[in-house]
Amino acid sequence: MKYFSTRDASVRVSAAEAIATGLAPDGGLFVPESIPHIGAQDIEELRLLDYRGRAARIMGMYLDDFTGDELELFCRRAYSDNFDTPETAPLRIIDGGTAVLELWHGPTCAFKDMALQMLPHLLTASLRKCGEKRGVCILVATSGDTGKAALEGFADVEGTRIVVFYPRDGVSDVQKLQMTTQTGENVLVSAIAGNFDDAQTGVKRIFGDRDFAARLDESGWFLSSANSINWGRLLPQIAYYVSAYCDMINAGKIANGGRINFCVPTGNFGNILAGWYAKQMGLPVARFVCASNSNNVLTDFINTGTYDRNRQFHCTISPSMDILVSSNLERLLYACCGSDSEVAGYMASLAKEGRYTVSDGLIDRIRADFSAGFCSDGETRAEIADMFAKGYLMDPHTAVAWKVLRGYRAATGDTTPSVVVSTASPFKFCDSVLAALGEDTGAPGTELIGRLAERTGVSAPKPLATLAGRAVRFDGCIDRSDMERLVGDFLR
Ligand SMILES: *Cc1c(COP(=O)(O)O)cnc(C)c1O
Repeated sequence: MKYFSTRDASVRVSAAEAIATGLAPDGGLFVPESIPHIGAQDIEELRLLDYRGRAARIMGMYLDDFTGDELELFCRRAYSDNFDTPETAPLRIIDGGTAVLELWHGPTCAFKDMALQMLPHLLTASLRKCGEKRGVCILVATSGDTGKAALEGFADVEGTRIVVFYPRDGVSDVQKLQMTTQTGENVLVSAIAGNFDDAQTGVKRIFGDRDFAARLDESGWFLSSANSINWGRLLPQIAYYVSAYCDMINAGKIANGGRINFCVPTGNFGNILAGWYAKQMGLPVARFVCASNSNNVLTDFINTGTYDRNRQFHCTISPSMDILVSSNLERLLYACCGSDSEVAGYMASLAKEGRYTVSDGLIDRIRADFSAGFCSDGETRAEIADMFAKGYLMDPHTAVAWKVLRGYRAATGDTTPSVVVSTASPFKFCDSVLAALGEDTGAPGTELIGRLAERTGVSAPKPLATLAGRAVRFDGCIDRSDMERLVGDFLR
């Protein structure tokens, strides 16, 4: 199966090339030229497998330049005792018609592990298949979750190095400690004096510096990114939607063939888009509910057809969804309109004016699969408290989705069995969760982990519970102008 660019359908590459290069040369995103199909018989077989088996089968349908043995090996390595449950992505039935898909049992306690534990295997194999002899250095600017998940994924992976920059004042105590205590011989972490935008801009500048690339090339290295525009990050996420469907059958909530809804807390649109691909494959999904916080660009887009980033940016208690430009939306636009020139036009308008309006036909097709809603921080806190009283502790991102699903059901009367996608452990956002439960939060982040465990009787995930005792390896903070030099020295 070939992949082509959302901005120029004549650019065709193999799966390995799409993963090895990440972004298409014209700035577009790679998409598969056709969508493989799964039917009721496939589901019947998949539901008897464990998560690894399911993931290997699903990924294999898109990666015909990889063997089944290779993919099974990758899955055994990516999803093993680095997760704190043998189920990898367990489905918890909460009430009669609602379940939660917990995607945060991996080493960094957020859903990005589902893809970033897999990506290093896919990427290093893709580079081998493409005959790449140089080593790859992954460069990341992070506002928190992605940096740590990428570090855990790439730590001590042969032929790779990883450098992560985070804003000195822009991440939580826990997030910072997660990164600065990272182990591995091939990792480098540094704070920069500035905010997330400064880190991001600095990284983009390094990627764009051709002289620097030429010097790295001489010493046998090239730079790559681990962000969610890479197909190798999206693909592993398709598997858990299929897996959740299998588990809904296994739990007796639906018959094979019965339809379900998914409600997904959304930022960059990567997670929910993977679900939509699963539906395109034939998974019986009725509707995706796209949940946002007060940065409700996507809610407005789905409801009006106009995407408009010209608005105030809100810092919320669900920070991983504080995003005004959802880059993966481009893949959905392309799939629903089928015209690379139309998509290129929307993206040019977004770059120039910060907004675009899609055709009526296009927004109707999107609305056939997606509904959208958002909620405030106050509503999110109330939802956390209410659900805890009913016996389930959730993080703020998951609580946004839970609230938005309730609103959707009330407005539409839709009673389809539904899965809320849970993207982080509540212990990753202790201060907000404790505050929602009416507790005082005036203490260092690592102390709050113990406090939340005491208050709720739920035990903290081990990677977070043991954080306070770990040695800090990276306490440096550099100026933005020194980022390139730091990377150059690290790769010498
Ligand atoms: C990254 C992230 C999201 C948003 O996912 P997208 O794929 O960017 O839409 C939601 N919740 C958490 C906890 C995250 O880390």
